[in-house]
Amino acid sequence: MWLENHNLKKYNTFGFDVSARYFVEPDSVVDVKKAVAEAHRLKVPIFVLGGGSNVLFTKNIDGIVVKPAMKDLDVLKRSETQVWVTVGAGVVWDHLVEWCVANNWGGLENLSHIPGTAGAAPVQNIGAYGAEIKDVVQSVEGFYLETLESFTFSRSECAFGYRSSIFKTDLYGKVIITRVTFALSATPRIETRYGQIEEYLKNQPDRSIQSVRRAIISIRTQKLPDPEKMGNAGSFFKNPVVPESVALHIKESYPQIPLYESESGYYKLPAAFLIEKAGWKGVRRGDVGVHTDQPLVLVAFTGATGAQIVSLSQEIQESVKDQFGVWLEPEVNIL
Ligand SMILES: Cc1cc2nc3c(=O)[nH]c(=O)nc-3n(C[C@H](O)[C@H](O)[C@H](O)COP(=O)(O)OP(=O)(O)OC[C@H]3O[C@@H](n4cnc5c(N)ncnc54)[C@H](O)[C@@H]3O)c2cc1C
Repeated sequence: MWLENHNLKKYNTFGFDVSARYFVEPDSVVDVKKAVAEAHRLKVPIFVLGGGSNVLFTKNIDGIVVKPAMKDLDVLKRSETQVWVTVGAGVVWDHLVEWCVANNWGGLENLSHIPGTAGAAPVQNIGAYGAEIKDVVQSVEGFYLETLESFTFSRSECAFGYRSSIFKTDLYGKVIITRVTFALSATPRIETRYGQIEEYLKNQPDRSIQSVRRAIISIRTQKLPDPEKMGNAGSFFKNPVVPESVALHIKESYPQIPLYESESGYYKLPAAFLIEKAGWKGVRRGDVGVHTDQPLVLVAFTGATGAQIVSLSQEIQESVKDQFGVWLEPEVNIL
C-alpha cells in the first residue's frame, strides 16, 4: 500500500520529524519491483530505507521511500563444517544474529546488537569487535533501480572495504538489495581480542558464541546511547586512514593515541580520540551535541533537526582538521 506524506520520525534513529511524499513497504521482490516501476511512471526519485539507523534526514523526501520488508530466514545448505543461511533484506539484523547464535552457527556473533536490517548490512560492510560481514557474506542479490535488472554479486564483487562496499560507492543509490546469503561455521571459534569481551567472559561459565553474544550485548548496552531514549546513528564519522608519516607525526604530540595498521604504509586512527582531544566530548550546541562518553556519537535532543547535526559535524571536522591535519569523513548517509 502506498502512503502519501508519510511521517518518517519512527523510521530513523535520530528521530527527525521529516516526511516522505510516498512511502511503501513491499514484502516480496515482485512488489518491490512494482513499486520501483511505479516510481518511474510518476517520475519521482527513489530512496531505499532499511531501519534508518545510518541515515541523517535534513529535509523531507520529495520522492518515494521504498522499505523492503522481505522477512524470510532459511538454511540453504549444510556441510560438515559450514552452514549457508539466506535472508530477505527486511529481516532485522539482530534477529538474524540471534537465530544463528541459538543454532550455534558462528560468524555473526561479534556483530550482535547492531541496529538495522540485513539488506543494509552489506552497504557499509558493518563491523564491530574484530568482525566485519565481509568475512561471511557469500552473495548479495538485488536489482538495478533504473533497469530493474537483477544481479547476484559474489563476496569479491561486493568490493568490501572498511565501512564501504560497491553499494556505498559505485552503486550508491542505484540498486536495491533484496537478499543476502552468508556462509557460517558449523564448528565456530570465538574471537575475543577486542573491547572488554575477555573481561566479561571471566565471569561466565563457558566460552562459546552464546557467551560472546551476551558479552557484546552487555558491553554495547552500557557503552552506546539507546536511540529510543536519545536520537543518534551510532558512530557519526569513520576512523580516518592516514599515511604512516601523518600517524607518526600525531603520535609524537599525543603518545597515548592507539594506531592500527591498515593497508601497507597506512594507519587507522581512532576518530573518537581526535574528537575528544579537540575538546568536543560532551559539548552541546542547542538541541544537538556530542555524547558525554562516546565522542564519535552525535546526539539529537528534543526539537533537534538534521541541519543542526550537519552544522555541528562540520564544526567538528574543521576543528579536527586544524588540530591534527586530518579530515573526518561521515559514516552516516546524509540526505
Ligand atoms: C546505536 C547504534 C550503533 C551502531 N553500531 C554500529 C556498529 O557497531 N557497526 C556498524 O557497522 N554500524 C553501526 N551502526 C550503524 C547502522 O546500524 C548500520 O550501518 C546498519 O547496517 C544500518 O542499517 P539500516 O537498515 O538501519 O540502514 P539505513 O540507515 O536505513 O540505510 C543505510 C544506507 O543503506 C541503504 N540501504 C538500506 N537498505 C538497503 C537495501 N535493501 N538495498 C540497498 N540499499 C539499502 C540506504 O539507502 C542508506 O544509504 C550503529 C547505529 C546505531 C544507531
